[in-house]
Amino acid sequence: MNCTPSISNVIQPRQMEQIMDAIDRAEKIVITAHLSPDGDALGSSLALYHFLKRRNKNVRVIVPNSFPYFLKWMKGAREIEVYEYNPTAAQHILSHADLIFSMDYNISKRVGDMGPFLDKSPAQKILIDHHLFPGENFDIIVSHPEISSTSEVLFRLFFQAGKYEELTQAEAECIYCGMMTDTGGFTYNSSDPEIYEIISLLLRKNINKDAIYSQVFDNYSAERFRLLGFTLSQRMEIYPELHSALLYLSREDQSRFRFSKGDTEGFVNYPLSIKGVIFSTFIREDEGLIKLSFRSQKSFPCNEFAADFFNGGGHLNASGGEFYGTFEEALRIFNEGLRSYEEKLKRTAGEL
Ligand code: 5GP
Ligand code: MN
Repeated sequence: MNCTPSISNVIQPRQMEQIMDAIDRAEKIVITAHLSPDGDALGSSLALYHFLKRRNKNVRVIVPNSFPYFLKWMKGAREIEVYEYNPTAAQHILSHADLIFSMDYNISKRVGDMGPFLDKSPAQKILIDHHLFPGENFDIIVSHPEISSTSEVLFRLFFQAGKYEELTQAEAECIYCGMMTDTGGFTYNSSDPEIYEIISLLLRKNINKDAIYSQVFDNYSAERFRLLGFTLSQRMEIYPELHSALLYLSREDQSRFRFSKGDTEGFVNYPLSIKGVIFSTFIREDEGLIKLSFRSQKSFPCNEFAADFFNGGGHLNASGGEFYGTFEEALRIFNEGLRSYEEKLKRTAGEL
């Protein structure tokens, strides 16, 4: 068996050349990421941001809305512009850009109100992503659903383009953070040996992976833990015969705790630790909409469930959706949906 470390050429060489050319030609570059940006959206965006800054580009990162406090440590995070805070300024930047990168999302709907301004900008558009079904409104589409994070896709692009040597510690940190968060600290979607070849290359840039883990996962407030305790003890339903679990929080529930953005991040994963549970849902009443998160194990397609009932999507084992209506309606639709998936759930759990 040949054990020589290797990173296979996943990125099409022609696309890689086109992207490097586009970067060389552009002066004003905008990097965008999806609504409620997570570690991968921000990690890939900021790694690219630093890479482009080193090339003396006029580069901005614009995200649709704010991001959680446990991601603010990343270098460059404070320079990110939030569309929601100043839409007019962001629209101006988008309409005057030469080149726009779309990181970690597949269609412009995923950037909310910013979407139409992205679509109508005359800039060249490049998508770098790992979600299924990339949209068409891009000039170059680098879409790799088989890869567990957009940050890894970006690393591969840099690596293939011969840019590994020049990557800085900050860029390596951002990439590592994205790879780590999208795999739950390398606990799912992370069995590809090349992931660890890449981590080894990132560690050679002097990143401290344990410190990065701690910044993200050991930085929660006491309030988050109280809310988690409440949710698990008072707002969790288990459906043993359907191998499923539900967590739910109304606005009223949340108002009893000093709730801050990101505090419920990761809640949806907990029920998967219960023996027999392969599908977990978290329904949270937000301002003006209901937000849903889904997680699954094995081959149960939680993205199909999200698409069927909640206008959503995502990955096979991690997806999300939205609902515009009352909290009670969302719960009812979830329960009906769950029943309609009974056979699939049982089959996937290995019961049938
Ligand atoms: P989370 O539960 O962490 O918010 O989202 C998990 C994954 O589901 C995200 O990486 C994203 O791919 C997908 N996702 C979350 N919310 C939505 C949504 O409203 N629509 C779609 N299409 N995908 C979503
Ligand atoms: Mn991602």
